Amino acid sequence: MRYYVTTPIYYVNAEPHLGHAYTTVAADILARYHRQKGDEVFFLTGTDEHGTKIAQAAEARGCTPREHVDQMAPKFQELTRTLDASNDFFIRTTDPQHEAFVQAFVEKLRAAGDIEKRTYGGLYCTQCEAFWYERDLAPDGTCPDHGIKPVYLEEENYYFLLSRYQDRLSAFFRANPEWVRPKSRYNEALSFVEQGLEDISISRSSITWGVPVPWDPEQVIYVWVDALVNYLSALTYARPGEDLSGLWPGFHFMAKDILKFHAVIWPALLMSAGYAPPAGEFIHGYLLMSGEKMSKTRGNVLDPFAVIATYGLDPLRFYLFREVTFGQDGVISMEGFEQRYTNELANELGNLLSRSVSMIAKYRGGRIPQAGPEGEVMTDVAAEGEAMVRAAGAHLDAVEITAAIESVWAYVRRLNRLVEEEAPWKLAKDEAQAGRLDAVLRALAAGLRLVALTLYPVIPGTAVEILRRLGQPHGDVDLRLDEALWDRLEVATVEVAPPLFPRIERGA
Ligand SMILES: [Zn+2]
Repeated sequence: MRYYVTTPIYYVNAEPHLGHAYTTVAADILARYHRQKGDEVFFLTGTDEHGTKIAQAAEARGCTPREHVDQMAPKFQELTRTLDASNDFFIRTTDPQHEAFVQAFVEKLRAAGDIEKRTYGGLYCTQCEAFWYERDLAPDGTCPDHGIKPVYLEEENYYFLLSRYQDRLSAFFRANPEWVRPKSRYNEALSFVEQGLEDISISRSSITWGVPVPWDPEQVIYVWVDALVNYLSALTYARPGEDLSGLWPGFHFMAKDILKFHAVIWPALLMSAGYAPPAGEFIHGYLLMSGEKMSKTRGNVLDPFAVIATYGLDPLRFYLFREVTFGQDGVISMEGFEQRYTNELANELGNLLSRSVSMIAKYRGGRIPQAGPEGEVMTDVAAEGEAMVRAAGAHLDAVEITAAIESVWAYVRRLNRLVEEEAPWKLAKDEAQAGRLDAVLRALAAGLRLVALTLYPVIPGTAVEILRRLGQPHGDVDLRLDEALWDRLEVATVEVAPPLFPRIERGA
């Protein structure tokens, strides 16, 4: 199986923030999960570097657009490293190979007879870089995404005849009822298609920071067309000497503010140019802090670099997908973060590992006991563990990241109950219970190994560390989900080590 997954390319008019981190980690979770399944995975992220807002941001800083993007792009590359994102390539829309591909792409639209030159006047939001129909604006006449009044703009531009694709798009939606998820976003996009599509301008004459229209260099290609095409262009040069075009169609992750571009305009452009529509799209919600959405233009920026520096990467990755059901809007807070850090990561998971390892050290000289007649309780724990692996996998196949974590967590709690119920410290005092104690200690190690393998996509560093402390192999091959079976636990020597999640230093 092939799994080509993308984040949107991030617009470099402002610094990276938590909103970018959220989408990137989501795509990374699915990329890692599909690698564990043995799929051929390609994970793409990058930066969107053309358009009016970039030119304006550069001007405000007193530099050229080229200087601006060359300073900003490395910050987004740094973000992927800080997040431990396993992306296979980082595309920049100022890459010459991308620019050439965009020109060839619009030539295909033109050859299909889908391009026309027209004069158009309309209400234009400079933040969206898009025209709005009056009917789609907020009741006070402002852009619903940015809360600012669009300006009237008149230009002679090249138009893509989107209206021609209404029936084909509608048929595609009807034939693929899951292609956009969650369902509410599918319905939103479909109703957008079915209320009537108007042709869209795909070039600008008023700016110069962009890819020139190949047959009319007085105009540059609209930044959204330029940006969307990255999902195709990257495949032609990400690996020098290798053509990855066979990986298309890809699966796109994004926030809901760019649904229309991805779920309506992009598939129509692809159809016109002779490509298959995307394999699927998942539209996530907003992370809210004090009721305000975390998004690019509002200014309530939470610096993910600072959060990670204080608390570590995995706790952030865990919290964002544990706290807010992926796909919905939800409120995050430092208070909520600290609660989950302490109660779930430090106490329920970290402590479970510490106790298990130290009991194996204390009662069995640090060696995980051999499998013996394990008794009914351990048979249940084994069956529940393997059922948990399957349940979490089914959730991740459906991009239900939060539900997948919940499946694992129910099992973490099950293992904690096993410790309380069996009380190994009591079994250890009775020589007649030696076999039972072996079975319990072995079950804790085997259960924790399944937990680590299943949590790996979400908290990869922690998962590998759990396996390491349990003396289990943890290379890429060992992380495969077909290894996530109870009996694959190796008899090995465990390592007693400091807490996985140390107490948070307050007032730092
Ligand atoms: Zn807007």
